[in-house]
Amino acid sequence: MKRIGYIAVYLCLFCLLWFGWNDCCYGKETVVVIDPGHGGDNKGGEFEQYTEKYMDMEVAEYIVERLSEYDGVSVYLTHDDTETKDLTRKERATIANDADADFLISVHFNMSMNHNLYGTEIWTSAFSPYYYDGYRLGEIILEKNVEQLGLFNRGIKTRISDKTNKDYYGIIQNGVANGIPTIIIEHCHIDEERDREILKQADVLKNFGYNDADAIAEYFGLSSSKLGILNEVRKNTDIESTEDIIYPDTEKPHFVCAAIDTIDYDNNIAYIKLEATDNGSGLQYYAYCENRDDENVKLYPWNDDIDALYPTDNNQILVSIPLENTDKELYFAVYDKYDNRLTAEEVTVIPAIKTIDARENELNSDNEQNIVEITNSSDEKEDAKKNFNIVDAVIVCLLVIIAIASTVVLVYICRLDRIRKRKRKNVKRD
Ligand SMILES: [Zn+2]
Repeated sequence: MKRIGYIAVYLCLFCLLWFGWNDCCYGKETVVVIDPGHGGDNKGGEFEQYTEKYMDMEVAEYIVERLSEYDGVSVYLTHDDTETKDLTRKERATIANDADADFLISVHFNMSMNHNLYGTEIWTSAFSPYYYDGYRLGEIILEKNVEQLGLFNRGIKTRISDKTNKDYYGIIQNGVANGIPTIIIEHCHIDEERDREILKQADVLKNFGYNDADAIAEYFGLSSSKLGILNEVRKNTDIESTEDIIYPDTEKPHFVCAAIDTIDYDNNIAYIKLEATDNGSGLQYYAYCENRDDENVKLYPWNDDIDALYPTDNNQILVSIPLENTDKELYFAVYDKYDNRLTAEEVTVIPAIKTIDARENELNSDNEQNIVEITNSSDEKEDAKKNFNIVDAVIVCLLVIIAIASTVVLVYICRLDRIRKRKRKNVKRD
């Protein structure tokens, strides 16, 4: 019995040591599961030479390559490029759950209906605490890809299914259902000009993968003795909300107004002042078109130094429009971070040539009028002067004649009077 007792004690000690050691060495290890989007027959987005499925896989493999160089982390793929079947969202989340993942990251590239959206974005769960985990990691990923690759930042967003009231995207919904923070990275748009320029950069998919991996390492505070990188857990200071559900922005921008500010006649450009506000997710793009409801338009970044001149604040920008040969009614529209659009009343833009002609005519006629006015007034004055002098001379002459005549008459009367008086005296003497 004693011997059995000793064996039991030894076994207990052994078990305690074994599990304790395991906890000590493996309990702290971070597990990250990377989910390359699509697979099998599901190729995802396809546009010209780009097929999303292959791009997702390549970026995911680069994430694994880079993240594996950090200490204290295990990183897995939900599937590799030999997979012939498109795994369901549930299967992918189950793989992450089986691996005891601390984070599930789904890798994608984007396309849009009108092929005009551009930029990089993150989708996270709308529900606390997963929203905040996704936001914290998403912000670091966006920061790296925006700063290092020159992408436009479309932000971190949520989407809720109308039917289920759960997260709309299956991978996020299934991930958080297993208690795993889950995000989708939409790296950029394969069908849009501006983003395709970025996709032409050398090693762009490798850079995406490495940036994502470095961001994950910063989020978890993973260091790499091999790469000589020392990270601490990066705390996000930007999150103010503590709400349980973070609803997506489904409202249009609150206000928009467009008006001609100035016209540069020398360079054939009209400057339009565009004023707008959005109380939800914030403004993202602006556009202009000739048909009010035209959605198939080129989008310009709101308040961006390159495309919008002299941004004064978040609510006002000055947009330059090259003037053409005919009058045009332009409709300006603004878009928020969720691509909700609000269109302003039309602005009539008159061609610069017409405007220059009109302006010159105006100036010429103004000058002619001025000249005429000046001529008219000087002639009148001259005439008036001449008239004044003649009248004056005539009056003076008349006055002189009257004066002389009256003097002559007076002298004559006096003389007559004297002659009469003498005659009377002579008559008396006689
Ligand atoms: Zn996709």
